[in-house]
Amino acid sequence: MLRIECPCCGLRDHDEFRYGGDASAVRPAHDDPDPEAWYRYVYIRKNPAGLHREFWQHVTGCRQWLVVERDTRNHSILSVGFARK
Ligand SMILES: [Zn+2]
Repeated sequence: MLRIECPCCGLRDHDEFRYGGDASAVRPAHDDPDPEAWYRYVYIRKNPAGLHREFWQHVTGCRQWLVVERDTRNHSILSVGFARK
């Protein structure tokens, strides 16, 4: 079972969280007119076997958005931090 250490609420079951996607994807500039850049940002995703940075929201807790660094091979979590800067 996947358990995530929320910086606000402590160790919680993953059922309390919602997966929010790849945190390593870089959003194009707001005024970037290149449709290919937006296509890649919205639709193209890697499926790595290993370390992956992911957005998770603690929906039944503090509702904070988090960045979780997780190893997709064994679901071990290496770090958790707030997504906000
Ligand atoms: Zn929380």
